[in-house]
Amino acid sequence: GDTLARHYTVSGGFGKPTASVKALDGVSFSLEAQKTLAVVGESGCGKSTLGRQLTLIEKPSSGALKINGDAVGNLSDKDAQLFRRTVQMIFQNPYGSLNPRKKVGQILEEPVLLNMDKLSRKERQERVRDTMAKVGLRPEFYSRYPHMFSGGQRQRIAIARALILEPKVIVADEPVSALDVSVQAQVLNLMMDLQDEMNVAYVFISHDLSVVRHIADDVMVMYLGRVAEKGPTEELFNRPLHPYTRALLASAPKIDPAHRVKSEPLTGELPSPINPPSGCAFHKRCPFATDHCAQVRPELRMIEGREVACHRVEEIF
Ligand code: SF4
Ligand code: MG
Repeated sequence: GDTLARHYTVSGGFGKPTASVKALDGVSFSLEAQKTLAVVGESGCGKSTLGRQLTLIEKPSSGALKINGDAVGNLSDKDAQLFRRTVQMIFQNPYGSLNPRKKVGQILEEPVLLNMDKLSRKERQERVRDTMAKVGLRPEFYSRYPHMFSGGQRQRIAIARALILEPKVIVADEPVSALDVSVQAQVLNLMMDLQDEMNVAYVFISHDLSVVRHIADDVMVMYLGRVAEKGPTEELFNRPLHPYTRALLASAPKIDPAHRVKSEPLTGELPSPINPPSGCAFHKRCPFATDHCAQVRPELRMIEGREVACHRVEEIF
């Protein structure tokens, strides 16, 4: 989908020291239609905050979140609404994210009503029914309430709601981790099929590395609000370069042991993002840390076609 590719550059910077959580620090990436960028890291690494900022649910506490060169915080109400239409979100919890007092048809019609005011009532309802069919929801579900559905079906409703405005980007924050394992693959496969059909880019936030390996084109590993490593999925899994990526992969329970990276698993706790360590934020947990690492923050560099923020990659591997 190169001709239709739409590139977003997203960056959030935090210039002055502040007491607020530095959730995003110089994070930037681009997205392409029909491609999936997975964002991985321990809880507290900033991956969910990134998702909320991307969808304008949360504003950066300082610094600027920029998309296509425009600071998102400075968007007019009208532009913000247009932007929200372009970037939609699927949440982890399909129980909490759907209004229990509204019927499925109303839940899906609402964003159309808000964003496509030129459509007639009939056209809106057609759009709702078409989208329901796309995600495999039967027509009679139109007048039922969310509580009448299983987790997997609720997540189909959430996917339909995200897709109904034909967004360019969908941010999915752990979209299957609350579902039964037997249902997870169905929902993931549906998302993958719809991605090509709808020409959409996914930002897939997940702690489940086996799922990430299965569905992502590229992976961005985050640590304390910064990017540790970013690159094509298979290359990153086969040969992780950043010591944090190596430890993360070595700690993943579901990775086939034959393919598991030989490395020390993660030890120690994630430091507080409110007061991150000096230098490389990973230095207190890194087996390769030196005094230099504790003092000087490593910038992202291109190494073997990947971006890696580590002073010592070349020496270590
Ligand atoms: Fe480890 Fe130093 Fe690399 Fe940070 S910069 S990951 S502390 S070797
Ligand atoms: Mg794809």
